[in-house]
Amino acid sequence: MSHAKNALDKDLMFQKIMPSSKDRNVCSEEESEEDAAGGSLRARIFAQSEASMSAMSGIHVINLMEEVVMQHLDDTIEKFNCCRCDQCRSDIIAITLNELPPKYVVGDPKHAKELAKQVSTKEVLSALVRAVIKVRSHPRH
Ligand SMILES: [Zn+2]
Repeated sequence: MSHAKNALDKDLMFQKIMPSSKDRNVCSEEESEEDAAGGSLRARIFAQSEASMSAMSGIHVINLMEEVVMQHLDDTIEKFNCCRCDQCRSDIIAITLNELPPKYVVGDPKHAKELAKQVSTKEVLSALVRAVIKVRSHPRH
């Protein structure tokens, strides 16, 4: 059971890191070659990856403040009945993030939501509310 799950995870990871091989399958005459190449590449990647899993999963610099702002953006816009066009949304995000000290961590964006729990939402929400009110009173359109 655990072995099957492991194999599935590897397939998912492979699809994630090799999106180009999937895209190129659109060209049907190369399809079989592509599969063969993909298969051997997959084997090579996973032969190395057993030693260093960190190279496999997406390691990125994440601003946890941005994550928390995005989590509460739509609710706050709705609560204050603010315009939700791209211009206003982007202005709100920019104003809010400029108000807040960034909080960078290194990790997989898949886990950003979990990591963001270490940020106090209170501070973020008050900055977000101020930004929403500011944009609502002076929308740039
Ligand atoms: Zn707007």
